[in-house]
Amino acid sequence: KLIVFEGVEGSGKTTQLQRCSQWLEAIGLAERFGEGEKIPPVVVTREPGGTPLGLELRQLLLDAGTNPTRQSIEDRAELLMYAADRAQHVEELLNPQLKLGAIILCDRYTDSTVAYQGYGRGLDLTLIEQLNQIATGGLASDLTLWLDIDAEIGLKRARLRGSADRMEQADLAFHQRVQQGFAQLAASYPQRIVRIDASRSEDEVHSAIQQILRQRLRE
Ligand code: C5P
Ligand code: MG
Repeated sequence: KLIVFEGVEGSGKTTQLQRCSQWLEAIGLAERFGEGEKIPPVVVTREPGGTPLGLELRQLLLDAGTNPTRQSIEDRAELLMYAADRAQHVEELLNPQLKLGAIILCDRYTDSTVAYQGYGRGLDLTLIEQLNQIATGGLASDLTLWLDIDAEIGLKRARLRGSADRMEQADLAFHQRVQQGFAQLAASYPQRIVRIDASRSEDEVHSAIQQILRQRLRE
């Protein structure tokens, strides 16, 4: 199963993903899989940066925002770099692990490209959908957990933990468009995308995720 965590900066994706993986390995999977059944491995990964090539792309992409000596990346070039990262990720890691029966927890996937490059930067949504299709070879998530938080609160949280330096230039309006993108996606794909109110405490969000996974892992 491919389970994706999505949301704007500071929505708690990485924190919740780590907690979710610990819970699955300690308790969650034992609840779901009976004695004698083979318990699948849990794999934690992310985009951009889930493979060695992806890590290099991630560095190029994230440096471009903060390093003034680095050439800026044009929007369409950026889109293609995310697509290249994804194509490599699907081939090298996601498909082989899914074949082994793994439960994959992935920090960002195709919806981030729609939200950031589409709604955020204004690139054509149909083109992005086609590109996502090419990059993934049709691999969609089984479940996407959208950690929904107000863009402004999210940015404040991200600044507090110090990861906002890399997005100093990214303004609030941009993040609000990204947030709208996630909201639109959730409305368009109500089966695949589950909204989680991420303005609550870390523990509350974690319990909400547990509840959803208990149900979905049985399906
Ligand atoms: O670690 P995290 O996933 O939060 O960081 C990735 C960074 O890349 C974020 O700052 C996000 O704004 C940016 N990003 C993007 N377009 C994507 C995915 C991520 O601009 N499709
Ligand atoms: Mg993160």
